[in-house]
Amino acid sequence: MRDTIAAISSPLGEGGIGIVRMSGPEAHAILKRLFRPRKRTKAFASRRLYLGFFFDPQSTMDVDEVFATFMDAPYTYTREKMAEVYCHGGLSSQREILSLLMTNGARMAEPGEFTRRAFLNGRIDLAQAESVLDIIESESAEELQSALALSKGHLSDCIKGLSAEIEGLAAEVEASIDFPEEGLDIEDREWPGRIGKIRDALSTLIASFYEGRAIKQGLKALIVGRTNVGKSSLLNALSLRDRAIVTPLPGTTRDLLEETIHVKGIKFRIIDTAGLGSPRDPIEREAQERVILRIPEADVILWVLDASAPYNAEDEAVHEAIRGRRGLAILNKTDLPYRIDCGTVASKGFGAMSVSALTGAGLEELKAELFRLYAEHGGRSKGPLVTNVRHRDALLRTEEALARAEQCMEIGEPVELAAFEVRGALSCLGEITGATCTEDLLDRIFSRFCIGK
Ligand code: GDP
Repeated sequence: MRDTIAAISSPLGEGGIGIVRMSGPEAHAILKRLFRPRKRTKAFASRRLYLGFFFDPQSTMDVDEVFATFMDAPYTYTREKMAEVYCHGGLSSQREILSLLMTNGARMAEPGEFTRRAFLNGRIDLAQAESVLDIIESESAEELQSALALSKGHLSDCIKGLSAEIEGLAAEVEASIDFPEEGLDIEDREWPGRIGKIRDALSTLIASFYEGRAIKQGLKALIVGRTNVGKSSLLNALSLRDRAIVTPLPGTTRDLLEETIHVKGIKFRIIDTAGLGSPRDPIEREAQERVILRIPEADVILWVLDASAPYNAEDEAVHEAIRGRRGLAILNKTDLPYRIDCGTVASKGFGAMSVSALTGAGLEELKAELFRLYAEHGGRSKGPLVTNVRHRDALLRTEEALARAEQCMEIGEPVELAAFEVRGALSCLGEITGATCTEDLLDRIFSRFCIGK
C-alpha cells in the first residue's frame, strides 16, 4: 500500500463538475507539481480549497481551471494523504488530469481501492465498506436509510458485541482444557445457557434478513392463473405501465415479465407468468413448466381468477400447483356480473380480494394487503437489519457452529470439541466485519465497486 493511486471519481460523461482524486504518500507532492494557485501560497493548508490552474509542467500548457484540496492523514477517506481536483465535468479535462497524475508518479486505482484502503487502514470495517456500495446502488428512501445505518456501524456494533461474548466463552472453554483440575462442571459454568442466549440474538439478526431483503431486493410476487383471467392486465394496472401485451387470445404471455412497485417503501417485484392449463403446443408446455419451477421461490402468490366465469377445472389445476403457499386469491373482472362461486374460492385457503384490472377498482386495497402480508411475516423489526446475503450466510454458519458446541457440551463430548466449535463460530462471525477474512474475499467484494470509489 505504499504507492499512490489516482482515479476519476465522478461518473463518466459530461457534468457540472468532475472529481479526480489521489491517495497515498506522494499524493500532495504530485499535485503540487501540477497545480498553480491563483493567489501565491507558501504552504497549502489541509482540507482547504484552492482555486487555480492544473497544468502540464512539460509543455507549461494549462489543462483546466480547477479547485484543488490537500488532505493530511489520517483525517481522510482512506486515512492516507489525499488530494482532490475539482475540474470542469468534461471527459477530456478529467482524462488529461488523470493522465498527468499518472505520468507524475501515481498509478491507476483498481475498483473500490480507495474504500479497500479505508478498510485495511482500519477506518471502517468490512460491513461498513460494503455499505458504501449499497448507498450508491440504493433505489428508494428506505433502501438508502438501511444502507446508511449499515455504514454508521449499527450492524457492526451488534456483531462486535456478540463476538466479544463468544470470545469470552472460547477463552473459558479453552482454559478448562489447559487447567482441568481448576475446572468446574460444564453445567456449573452455565455455558450452554450462555450459548443459547447468543444463538437467540443471532436468530433475531438472521430473521431480520426477510425485511432487509424486502427493502433491498424486493419481495417476489408471482402472478399465476389460467389463461385470459387478466394476469397481464393486472401487472400493467399495478405497475401503471403497458408492460405486458393484453389480448383476448389465450397464451400471449410466454416469458416471465417483471415490474417493480413500491408499497410504503417496500419493493415488490411483480412477475407475470404464462397461463396454466392444457398446453396447446411445446412452447406453451415449456412456458408452463417454467412457471411451476418459479412457484417455490416466490415470496407471495397472486392467484388471479375471472370473477365473471364459473370456477373450473383449470382453476383447480392452478390451485393444486400453489396449494399451501402464501398468497392471495384475486377475483378479477368484477366490473362484469359475478359468475364465480365465491364460497368455493374462499375454501381454498387464500385470502380473497375483488379487483378490476380494467377500471382499477380494488387495486389500492390489493397493495395494502400485500404490505400487510409482508408486515405479518416479520417486517419492521427494531434492531439492525441484515440486508446482505454474505452477512446472512456468515450468521447462519456462526449459529450452526454454536449449536454444535452446545450439543457437544450437552452429550458430554471432550471439551476440546466444544472449544473447536466455539472458535469456529467466532471466525465465521468475524467474516462480517472483516476481523477474519481472506484476500480472496476482499477481491470478490471490492471488484463489485466502481473505479474511483
Ligand atoms: P391473461 O391471459 O391472464 O394475462 O389475461 P389478459 O390480461 O391478457 O386479459 C385477457 C382479456 O381479459 C383481455 O381481453 C382483457 O382486456 C380482459 N380483462 C382483463 N382484466 C379485465 C377486467 O378487470 N375487466 C374486464 N371486463 N376485462 C378484463
